[in-house]
Amino acid sequence: MTHSILSWLSASFTRKIGGLSTILLSFILLVIIYSVIQLDSISREMRELAEIDIPLTEIASEFEMKQLEQHILLERTRLAASSTPPASVEQQHLNMQLIEHSEQVEALLDQAVTVANTALKQHEIVDGMQAHKELLQHLQAYAQSQGSFHARISESLAQPLSEVNAAALDAAAEQMDLATEVLLEQIERLTEEVAEITASHQQRFLLVDIALGSGAFVIGIYITLYLIVSFRRHMGEIQRKVDRLNHSLQGSSATKISLEPAAGDDELARLAANIDGVLDSFTSEMKNRSEVERQLLQLATTDKLTGALNRHKWDETLAQEIQLAKRGMPLSLLILDLDNFKGINDRWGHDVGDRVLVRTVELIRENVRSSDLIFRLGGEEFALLFRNHSKQQAAVVAEELRQIFEQLEEKNLPPFTASFGITQYESGDSQETLIKRADDALYQAKTNGRNRLELG
Ligand code: GH3
Ligand code: MG
Ligand code: MG
Repeated sequence: MTHSILSWLSASFTRKIGGLSTILLSFILLVIIYSVIQLDSISREMRELAEIDIPLTEIASEFEMKQLEQHILLERTRLAASSTPPASVEQQHLNMQLIEHSEQVEALLDQAVTVANTALKQHEIVDGMQAHKELLQHLQAYAQSQGSFHARISESLAQPLSEVNAAALDAAAEQMDLATEVLLEQIERLTEEVAEITASHQQRFLLVDIALGSGAFVIGIYITLYLIVSFRRHMGEIQRKVDRLNHSLQGSSATKISLEPAAGDDELARLAANIDGVLDSFTSEMKNRSEVERQLLQLATTDKLTGALNRHKWDETLAQEIQLAKRGMPLSLLILDLDNFKGINDRWGHDVGDRVLVRTVELIRENVRSSDLIFRLGGEEFALLFRNHSKQQAAVVAEELRQIFEQLEEKNLPPFTASFGITQYESGDSQETLIKRADDALYQAKTNGRNRLELG
């Protein structure tokens, strides 16, 4: 029990709503099926009442009337017979009336038997089948005795009515009266019984329908409340999280995004608008971050003074380039060192020295391909990596640079020259062997008089 309550509580929203809706729909279906069955049964009972029991009761009351009329007729016949002089014409007339009357009673009985018989044959009886069967038997038995009573009347009236005959007729009529009374009571009781059964059936049907309907109503209310409460709670939670996220994003961002809901919007529209706002904040935050990252990366990999790649980047790049060179990509290395730079500093000052360093990198950049990499190895020493260049091709570039430096005449810039050591990747080279060959070539250029290039 506890387990099932716990598993219900932890079930998903969809499962809970699905489960409750299934129960609700089952209730409604039950109400419909039950109502259809019960209404059908009640309508059959009503039909039974209307087509069988009520007509039988009507016949019964008509029967009662006929019985009374018969008594009067018999009385009048007796009076006519005992009058002096005997009123034979009137008596004859009364006799005929009596016979006619008896025939009418028989016809009524036939009608009652037909009603009960047809109902039983067509299975229209819902309540008190046995009682109806018994009634039919009684009706048939009564019809028989009524038949013999009728025969007796006809017989007695065929001759002048004697005292003895009249008394016998009276006694027979009395007997018929008793039998009629019993029969009428039986019909009345049966009708009452059926009416009562129908009424209680209707009442029961109403009660069960009210109970089932109330159950469905309660479940419906529960589902509605549950949906509203869960929806509000979850929406509130999501809204708070979105607000918090937006707040923290805006706290670190220059762009402020308003989360004011538009008038007339429902909760979902407001949430969607807020999420849009948060996404905007997030996008601008990401842009800022990637810009900061880019700047940090630049700071970490470039030389502040000249903008050339720094020593740290040099080590990393050279390792990668050697890997490519090992796979067959031609690679040349050029190391250049400004000549007598100490003298420039000494003579013109450190700032002028700095300007020379900056201008050197600018001139190199202007005269190499954008894919060629320029590094400041330290002080006034620079390295260039040429992909897809042999050392002879690199030497052509170096010679161009040498001449540019040599011939440079700029205001506020002292003349300066540089020496170049050039080499290329040879199979089996490591970083050290490659650098060593370029360094040796540079040293050679220096010792051979500076402002020149040597290949290693
Ligand atoms: P060589 O022709 O043999 O290369 O002689 P050199 O004077 O260029 O070489 P040396 O190594 O003796 O001097 C290098 C000088 O570069 C020493 C140092 O003060 C200077 N220097 C190093 N870094 C900077 C810098 O960032 N700015 C300036 N202005 N000078 C620097
Ligand atoms: Mg130098
Ligand atoms: Mg140097």
